[in-house]
Formats: sequence, structure tokens, C-alpha cells
Amino acid sequence: MSEAPKPARKGLVFVVCAPSGTGKSTLIARLREEFDGIGFSVSYTTRQPRKGEEDGVHYHFVSREGFVAMRSRGEFCEWAEVHGNFYGTATQPVKDMLADGRDVLFDIDVQGAIQLRKTFTDGVFVFLLPPSREELLRRLEGRGTDAPDAVLKRMNNARGEMEQAENFDFWVVNDDLEKAYSELRSVYLAGKTRPALYNGILEKLLKEWD
Ligand code: ADP
Ligand code: 5GP
Repeated sequence: MSEAPKPARKGLVFVVCAPSGTGKSTLIARLREEFDGIGFSVSYTTRQPRKGEEDGVHYHFVSREGFVAMRSRGEFCEWAEVHGNFYGTATQPVKDMLADGRDVLFDIDVQGAIQLRKTFTDGVFVFLLPPSREELLRRLEGRGTDAPDAVLKRMNNARGEMEQAENFDFWVVNDDLEKAYSELRSVYLAGKTRPALYNGILEKLLKEWD
């Protein structure tokens, strides 16, 4: 028996946001490792590369002038100033991946996610929550990448970010990492079955009943 042709499917926009230190990078890295076909939206930023970061892989590193020029040409579907630097998502590469049927994962801040919804209305927007204030502080300090004043700034920003959590479709509390990952992957897999992503499968099926 020959196999039924696979339904053509558009890619899913999958957005993950969290206050800094919650575990977003950890969970996103795991998702990308398990689902290696998933596309990643490489953002543009005006911040300096950190050790080990590669241009075009982790970010497109651009000057402030370069960023402003792209912005005024309308090339970003969202942008935001985060911790004093500009960050933005170029629309075209994302649209190309989606049209190819590739899902696209976004690691962006809360302000950006809220803007992105206007362009990608069928996206899935997930907010990760820390289990407690105390644990968030412990993770930020334990990570050892931020000076004490930066940790304080991130802790203060966390409140405003969490106040936006109501605008997201799903919440995952990152208390136990395994549990949180299992929830995040379930949300991702469920998102892939959204009706809007199927290219005409229902019409085709219904025709068979004509
Ligand atoms: P973010 O990308 O949200 O800023 P990270 O992924 O860098 O956060 O995680 C912050 C720190 O917390 C890291 O040291 C990471 O190993 C740790 N971490 C992440 N998730 C958990 C968890 N569920 N339990 C304990 N520690 C965690
Ligand atoms: P970092 O400088 O630590 O890599 O990122 C700082 C923050 O900027 C993180 O919350 C990250 O998700 C966010 N960010 C990264 N790229 C973008 C982007 O293209 N747009 C927006 N709005 N935020 C971004």
C-alpha cells in the first residue's frame, strides 16, 4: 500500500519569553537540540558580542546607525531597547522559513513578543515563570555572568515583565527542569497542529465527499 501524501503545512511561530535568569536559554537550547529542524530567528542587535558568540549565528551584530537604517526601511517586524541596546527581528527571513514549512523559534523580550503577535497572529506565545523571587535571584547569582548591579537591574525588571504575562497563550513554571521542559515541548507539539497551519487539507478532504 502506498503511503498517504503528507499534508503541506506552514511553519509555526513559537515565541518564548521570560524574566532574565528563569531558564529560557536552557530550555530553548534543549528544544533546538531535540527538534533540530526547527528554524531560529537570528536577531539583529547593537550590543557587543560576548565571548564565543558568532555573527550570523547567535545574532547579527550591527552598529546603532545600521540598526536605525534597517528600522527606518521597515525591515523589522518587532524591535525593542533592552538593557540599553537595540534588538530586532528582520521580517523577511522569518517569512521565508515559514513559507518553507519550517517552524521558527524566537528568543525575544516581552515588548517584542507583544509586537510580534500583530504580524504573526497564528503564533504560539509562551511565558516562562520562575518558581519564586528567591529562586530567580539564586539562579541569576549562581549563573555568575552578571555583576551585582546587573543582577539587581534584572530582578527589578522581572516584575514589569511578569505583569505582561497575561498577554501570553501558555505559562510554564520552571521549577523542576524536567517538568518544565516536558510542558514546553508539549505546548510546541500542540501548536504545530493549529488549523491555520494546514494548507488546504480540510478542503481537499471535503472534496472527496463531493
Ligand atoms: P535565562 O536564559 O532565562 O536568562 P538561563 O537558562 O541562563 O536563564 O538559566 C539561569 C540559570 O539557572 C543557569 O545557571 C541555569 O543552569 C539555571 N537553571 C535553569 N533552569 C533551572 C531549573 N529548573 N532549576 C535550577 N536551575 C536552573
Ligand atoms: P542578550 O543580550 O542577553 O542576548 O538578550 C537580552 C534580551 O533581549 C533577552 O530577553 C532576549 O530574549 C532579548 N532579545 C534578543 N533578541 C531580540 C529581538 O530580536 N527582539 C527583542 N524584542 N528582544 C530580543
